[in-house]
Amino acid sequence: FTGSSPGSRSNSATGGPVIVELPLEKIKRPLIRTSDPKKVKELMDSIQKIGLEVPVDVIEVDGVYYGTCSSESSLKCYYTYSFFLFNFCFTCIGLSGCHRYEAHQRLGLLKIRCKVRHGTKETLRHYLR
Ligand code: ADP
Repeated sequence: FTGSSPGSRSNSATGGPVIVELPLEKIKRPLIRTSDPKKVKELMDSIQKIGLEVPVDVIEVDGVYYGTCSSESSLKCYYTYSFFLFNFCFTCIGLSGCHRYEAHQRLGLLKIRCKVRHGTKETLRHYLR
């Protein structure tokens, strides 16, 4: 399942991933990783021209959305969410979308199309490995 039309939802009955537009501010980004400014710029140009073709990965745990990596607010998240995110931070390499997220931010877009999977604290670590 990839989801083709913007805002489309699917698989909600089976618990599979759904494609939704989420406000950027609702996505917590616990992983520290430096983004490549050139990539971000290229994505900004492309997203402006043709829109976001591939949604970013997001995991929903207890109503909180986690996605992408972050170069700024990571440390805050890191300490706030303590043990769980401690593990999450070190296993979160599977969540793509860092550059797309930052491209949206820099374009001043308020929402981003996401492929959201439901997870629990326990399953999340395994899923992200
Ligand atoms: P990210 O950190 O966001 O995953 P990458 O540079 O690793 O950044 O990958 C960019 C991804 O963005 C690719 O998977 C590409 O298919 C996807 N993508 C989605 N929309 C666009 C677009 N409009 N132009 C270029 N790539 C796009």
